[in-house]
Amino acid sequence: MAQTRLDVLSCVEHERLAFELLEVRTRGQYLTQLRGISREEQAEWDRRERAALALLVDHELEHGCGR
Ligand SMILES: [Zn+2]
Repeated sequence: MAQTRLDVLSCVEHERLAFELLEVRTRGQYLTQLRGISREEQAEWDRRERAALALLVDHELEHGCGR
C-alpha cells in the first residue's frame, strides 16, 4: 500500500518536474493577485504552465511513475 507511494516519491525527475509545475502555478497566481497582470502576461504564464504540465505528463507516460 505505502509501497506505491514510495515508488513515486523515489523518482527524482518526477519530483523535479512536479515542483516546477507547482512553482509556475504559484508564481502566476501570486503575480495575478499581487498587481493584476496584463492579458499578454497571463497568456505567457498559461503557456508556461501548459509546457510544465506537458513535461510532467510525458515523463509519467514514458517512465510509468505517474500511478
Ligand atoms: Zn519518473
